[in-house]
Amino acid sequence: MIYPWQADDWNRLQQLRGHWPHALLLHGQAGIGKLRFAQHLAQGLLCEAQQANGEPCGACVACNWFAQGNHPDYRIIVPEALAAEAGLNNAADEKADKADADEGKKTRTPSKEIKIEQIRGLLDFVGVGSHRGGARVVVLYPAEALNIAAANALLKTLEEPPAGVVFLMVSARIDRLLPTIISRCRQWPMTMPAPDVATRWLAAQGVAEASALLAEAGGAPLTALALASDENRALRDWTLKQLAAGPDCDAFACGEALQKLPVPLVLGWLQRWMYDLLAQRTAGAPRYFPQASAALTRCASQADASAFARFMRTVTRQRAVENHPLNARLVFEELFIGYRDLFA
Ligand SMILES: [Zn+2]
Repeated sequence: MIYPWQADDWNRLQQLRGHWPHALLLHGQAGIGKLRFAQHLAQGLLCEAQQANGEPCGACVACNWFAQGNHPDYRIIVPEALAAEAGLNNAADEKADKADADEGKKTRTPSKEIKIEQIRGLLDFVGVGSHRGGARVVVLYPAEALNIAAANALLKTLEEPPAGVVFLMVSARIDRLLPTIISRCRQWPMTMPAPDVATRWLAAQGVAEASALLAEAGGAPLTALALASDENRALRDWTLKQLAAGPDCDAFACGEALQKLPVPLVLGWLQRWMYDLLAQRTAGAPRYFPQASAALTRCASQADASAFARFMRTVTRQRAVENHPLNARLVFEELFIGYRDLFA
């Protein structure tokens, strides 16, 4: 099933039937369900009793194979790290992974890149004919995870695609794709969910404060859903209170309380808060924390915008090295002291 905010994209895409592009690049913000959409589209293309609007029937042999993850004319290519985490694997790969594990090779860190070996394996797949006589479909997610060697290997196939092969590339960061890859795909920007549709969906998933979380997630419902069950939410709320205190922010308490959290997570909170402070000053409305609007207004009036902008750059620089922090506690202390000093 696709998400309720995707019906329009689905219907418009069906107009391409009859001259279906051999490579479709579905792109848009993270957390709006692009992967599920691509998988549903793949199932629709493989279904042998397709419904009028391109919907898969859910009952034919192809749909059953698809649901079990072993349709012979379907491949999904994801980085190893993601496959392990989300169970996004082809049944055949899972067997191979298990064999690896059995041989005790699982000690290395799973790769976050799509590697050339994966693309080579894919080329074997597209090189042989269709098992069922219909389309062969490849979902590649996220496309920005293709490393250079893998992207170049894929490029040749995208230039001269074998008949009947459809690539569904999914990306939240097309700015990171090779222009040569982009130019060989039909680009399809996925529609952002309307806030009321997204809020209703979140409420139906049992999320309280749906609209506040949706705002914090930048309008992406799946990100909002993840935030709702975030085990660090209490600390997040505590940190926002510290930030809201402006000149009274207790930087040492922040270092102490947050030191065990992943650095990127805390930097993300700080970045969104700073974004909102600037937005409050310039546009008069916060984007991520509308529920903290009063505190943002108060803080925004206590320092000048250029100091905010400078501090924002400091946080951004810290994000660039966030995966190799020297000492999380010191990093946080220094940042929160810098924040407090904005109001001095
Ligand atoms: Zn079917």
